Amino acid sequence: MGRSVLVTGGNRGIGLAIARELADAGHRVAVTHRGSGAPEGLFGVQADVTDTEQVDTAFKQVEEHQGPVEVLVSNAGVTDDTLLMRMSEEQFTRVLDANLTGAYRVAKRASRGMLRAKWGRFVFISSVIGLIGGAGQVNYAASKAGLVGLARSLTRELGSRNITANVVAPGFIVTDMTNELTDEQRATALERIPAARYGEPAEVAHAVRFLASDEAAYVNGAVLPVDGGLGMGH
Ligand code: NDP
Repeated sequence: MGRSVLVTGGNRGIGLAIARELADAGHRVAVTHRGSGAPEGLFGVQADVTDTEQVDTAFKQVEEHQGPVEVLVSNAGVTDDTLLMRMSEEQFTRVLDANLTGAYRVAKRASRGMLRAKWGRFVFISSVIGLIGGAGQVNYAASKAGLVGLARSLTRELGSRNITANVVAPGFIVTDMTNELTDEQRATALERIPAARYGEPAEVAHAVRFLASDEAAYVNGAVLPVDGGLGMGH
């Protein structure tokens, strides 16, 4: 009957690919959305990860529908790129609040059930940018690097209870997020990717599927790049 899974931002892009992959693997999968509704065949709960109350309500709905969350995929994320000189404090904190504090909110809420069950899987969707940095992405890179420290601290706190916390660091994946980039930005990125192509959301989902499985029980605190070699060396 599989596990009870929640994917934040699972209504589109990489999150949707992860949700579909885990549903295909036989799990009971819920996704958060911010008003778009649930994708066909998936259970949807409305929640903005910057709002603790909405997160709590969403978890209650998921618990009622499919049981306590056993696999949490913290995927929801935003960018707001500009050079540091021009980046307002609001632009910095807004991205941190969604990408990093949002992950803290959902992880904290999910940890209760996992501790009770003495089993759990946290998968945090970070980015190659969190490891190698990105010009114009001080806010985004800081938030994504922060997820590594968060996951590794969780590993130390909960690792003895059959709970793992791992990070997936995608490179350039074709979604709405990367469609916002200019042709020039896209071409520059491509030159740096050893695989000489962009990635597909499903390729990130395959890695998440493994980390969420029983087979990955001894993989904890890892950062798994899915980037065609772009970030090698970290
Ligand atoms: P998209 O822009 O396509 O989707 C972002 C998702 O996050 C949407 O579901 C969006 O919901 C949700 N979201 C954003 N902010 C919030 C919030 N405050 N509360 C709840 N949900 C929110 O992005 P991708 O699919 O490309 O990215 C998914 C993740 O992968 C992100 O964390 C991103 O940083 C990361 N990533 C992406 C890469 C890429 O190349 N595409 C590379 C590396 C990492 P809504 O539909 O309501 O806006």
